[in-house]
Amino acid sequence: MTTTVTVPGVESPVPTGLLVGGEWRAASAGGTFDVLDPADGSVLAQVADGTTDDVTAAVDAAAAALPGFAATAPRKRSEMLRKAFEILVERGEEFARLMSAENGKALPDARAELTYAAEFFRWFAEEAVRIDGDYRVAPAGGTRTVVTHQPVGVCLLVTPWNFPAAMLTRKLGPAIAAGCTSVVKPAEDTPLTALLLAQVLAEAGVPDGVVNVVPTMNAEDVVATAMADPRTRKVSFTGSTEVGKILLKQAADQVLVSSMELGGNAPFIVCEDADLDAAVDGAMLAKMRNGGEACTAANRFYVQAGVAAEFAEKLAARMGAMTVGRGTDEGVTLGPLVNEETVAKVDRIVRSTVESGAHAVTGGTRPEGAGFFYPPTVLVDVPADAAAMTEETFGPVAPIATFDTDEQMLALANSTPFGLVAYVYTRDLARGLRLAEALESGMVGINRGVVSDPAAPFGGVKQSGLGREGGHEGIGEYLTTKYVSFPL
Ligand code: ADP
Repeated sequence: MTTTVTVPGVESPVPTGLLVGGEWRAASAGGTFDVLDPADGSVLAQVADGTTDDVTAAVDAAAAALPGFAATAPRKRSEMLRKAFEILVERGEEFARLMSAENGKALPDARAELTYAAEFFRWFAEEAVRIDGDYRVAPAGGTRTVVTHQPVGVCLLVTPWNFPAAMLTRKLGPAIAAGCTSVVKPAEDTPLTALLLAQVLAEAGVPDGVVNVVPTMNAEDVVATAMADPRTRKVSFTGSTEVGKILLKQAADQVLVSSMELGGNAPFIVCEDADLDAAVDGAMLAKMRNGGEACTAANRFYVQAGVAAEFAEKLAARMGAMTVGRGTDEGVTLGPLVNEETVAKVDRIVRSTVESGAHAVTGGTRPEGAGFFYPPTVLVDVPADAAAMTEETFGPVAPIATFDTDEQMLALANSTPFGLVAYVYTRDLARGLRLAEALESGMVGINRGVVSDPAAPFGGVKQSGLGREGGHEGIGEYLTTKYVSFPL
C-alpha cells in the first residue's frame, strides 16, 4: 500500500509513492520532495523521491513484464486502453482539479487537457488492432519476404509539467497499444497526475510491471541510469531542447530509439485579407491555451501592416479582459505560471523586449504578492531581434511585429532553430497553402489556433524534435520492423 494525499476538490486519495512492478512503495532512500501549489507557493503534497536504485528496480519490473505483455492479444491491449479512456472521462473533473492544483492552470484549460489526454487512449485503443505487416514475392521470384512489426521493448518516458496528463497518455497510449512496457519519469512539479493516471491504468486491467512510475528530484541521474541500462530500448522525451540534446547524446551510447518533442517558437501570421475577428479568436487559443505554457504556443505575431493596429487593439482588449486568479477557482481564465523560475523568465523577457524598444498595450508588469502570477501582456513595435521574438517565452505574452510582403515575413518566421508549429490567417486558401509549404515547421494551422489532435501526427522539424506522436505515425515510434525471408 502506498501513502496518499488528499487534494482539495479531488475525491480519490492521490498516490504519492513510486509504482514499481504493480507495487506502490516509498523511495529506497526514504526521501520525499514537495509539490507546490503555484497559486501561493504552499506545499500541496510530499512525493517519494526516487533514486537510481529505484529506477533500476523499475527497469527490472518493465523487463520482466515485457515478454508476457508483448505476447498479449492486440485486442486485449486495445480493451485496456478503451477502459482507461472510459475511466478518465468518467473521472474527468477529478483529474482536471488535480492538474489545476499542481500545475496552476485554470480549470477550463485543465478540463480541455483531460479530454485531449483521454482521447489518446481512445485513439491508440483503435490503433492497437491495426498494426500491419506485409507479405511479398521477392523480385527474383521464389523467396518470400514477410514484414512484421514488434514492440520496441522497454521504454523510458520522460514528461514535462505543462500538460501533466496529455504528454503522458500520448506516450503510454502507443506504448501499451504496441505491447511495450514503460518506466515513466514525470516532471517534478507535477508528479501527482502521473501517479493517479498509473492507478487508472491498473484499474483498466494493465498488468503489473507494464507501467512503472518513478518521480524524483534527481532527474539527471535517474534518467541517465535508466538510459544506460542495456534493457532499455527506447526513450521518449517531451521538454526543453536543451535537455533533449543531453538525452540524445546519452541515447547514442545504447543506440536507443529516440523520440523527442522539444521547444518551439511558433509564428502566428495574420495577412491583410484575413477575417480579423477569427484571427483574434485563433490568437487567444494559440497564445492563451494553458496560459501560454505550451510548446505550441504562438510565441511571436507577424501582422501585415494594414491591419496590425486593429489586430493589436482587439487582441489586447480580449487578453486584458481575462480573469486572473487561482486556477481552481471557477470563473478564472488565467491561473499562475507553474513555478518561480518560469515567472521570472517571462518577466525578464518582457523587460528586455521593452528595453529594446517595444511598448506594452496591456500587462507588462509582474504583480507583487504570493504565487507565480503574470498578467496577460500584449507588446507592439517589437524589434525582430527582441528576446520575446527569439526566446520561447512560455507565458501569457504576445509580441507583435508587422510585415509588408510574404517573402519578408517568411524570412523572419523561418529565422529560428526551432520548427514545431506555425499559424496562418488568410482568406486566400492558395496563399495559405503556399505559406504552409514554405514555413519550416512540422505543423501548420491555417485559420486555426490549435492543431493538437490525437489522430494527427504531432511533431517538429529542426531543433524542435524527432519523430511524431499521435496519428498513425504515433504507434510506429514504439514498433520495430522485422523482416523474415524464406524460400518457397
Ligand atoms: P522545462 O524547461 O519545460 O521544465 P525540462 O526539459 O527541464 O523542461 O524538463 C522536462 C523533463 O525533463 C522533466 O521531467 C525533467 O525532470 C526532466 N529533466 C530535466 N533535466 C534533465 C536531465 N538533465 N536529464 C534528464 N531529465 C531531465
